[in-house]
Amino acid sequence: MGKWLHASHPEYQRGEAWSLQQKQALVDSLFRHYPIPPLFLERKLSTGLGGGVTEKFEVIDGQQRLLAISEFFADNFALLAPTDKKFKLPVSLRSQPAKWAEKRYSSLDTEQQRGLDITEVDVYLVSEVDHPDEVRDLFIRLQSGTALTRQQIRDAWPGNLGPFVESLAGKRAGKVHKHPRFEFFQLVDGRGMKGDDDDMTDPYAKHRQTCAQLLRILFGRVTGSGYFPTITAADLDGLYHEYTDIDLQGDMIKMAVEVFEHVEEVFNQIGRIYVRKYKVHKQGIFALCLFFQDALRNQQFKMDRNSVVELAKYVTVGAPKAVGKSSSASNNNAYYDLWREHLPENIGIKLDPKRTFDDKQKLALYVAADEKCAICGDEIPIEDGEGDHYPIPHRDGGPTTIDNGRFVCKTCHPRGRPKLDQFA
Ligand SMILES: [Zn+2]
Repeated sequence: MGKWLHASHPEYQRGEAWSLQQKQALVDSLFRHYPIPPLFLERKLSTGLGGGVTEKFEVIDGQQRLLAISEFFADNFALLAPTDKKFKLPVSLRSQPAKWAEKRYSSLDTEQQRGLDITEVDVYLVSEVDHPDEVRDLFIRLQSGTALTRQQIRDAWPGNLGPFVESLAGKRAGKVHKHPRFEFFQLVDGRGMKGDDDDMTDPYAKHRQTCAQLLRILFGRVTGSGYFPTITAADLDGLYHEYTDIDLQGDMIKMAVEVFEHVEEVFNQIGRIYVRKYKVHKQGIFALCLFFQDALRNQQFKMDRNSVVELAKYVTVGAPKAVGKSSSASNNNAYYDLWREHLPENIGIKLDPKRTFDDKQKLALYVAADEKCAICGDEIPIEDGEGDHYPIPHRDGGPTTIDNGRFVCKTCHPRGRPKLDQFA
């Protein structure tokens, strides 16, 4: 038994999660010679500087069991008496003798200690896997059907996205806090959120969920798979599958990080004004991120102090109330339009006072487009189309100039909608 207690815990493991009673029950099982589920360990060999090979074991499955046993060996807790109500032992067993009852490891007699030391547990050793992801895959399969939350399963998914989300939104595993790069996730008002990602042992789990939702929306708007993608639990699973190999130096990640940096600046401002007592409904956080995603496409976009203060006030007290459930793409879409409508003017964005293209500009765009709509490609008479701010929409500070214009038919003209194909 003792040999395995030194196995380490890989990154994807959740932190300590068992209650004291669960630990007591497990050790009690060992004394009763009940079988316990096998441990799955990965055997890792590493070559040291001197050329010596050292052997190391990582827990794939069985972390809670190992923790419980090692804590008992470390004298951290005493076992329960069979009569203890917390134990929930069948009545017929409560009067059976249990010599180990209420004892710590150090108070067991030598024979009992030795009995425990030589108790065998089944261990599956995994070594020489073809691909490191096989170990994670095994972990996921072992966990399916157990108490892991969906976000924890996502965290364990192979690839870059899991660790990236953890670095942005934080993670707590046992006593180890991985501090989040961004704290604005704390702003999200969690009331009324679905409980399937609640994790009492890791307060960052719901922040990672929010972060994954945001990435899904930000990426979705870029790739054009939908103007506003849905963000159900299945969509988030899909995000982790789809972006397994995402380039962490790539444009998509850069864009998301830049958006989050700006949101963080607003969050810090909110902290200054309101001592961080304010919570913002989820759609409000989404809208703030989308605003920056849109605004940052404009090279001219700059936030001055005043804009940050105004935005902080707006998101906490000024913005419209949420529109229905935040898992619905159309609700989020509608909310963002509403949010933009009520946004105070001159928040880092200088709107061109000239809103529409004049006839001369329209003609130039029409000629440049070969008399076709730039979106659907239909050939149309000039009076069936109009000038469209592109690539930068007017509301994001796009100037009404030929350089920032294209000719589109009236059906295609996505009035007031940002067009993000620049990122694609
Ligand atoms: Zn068209």
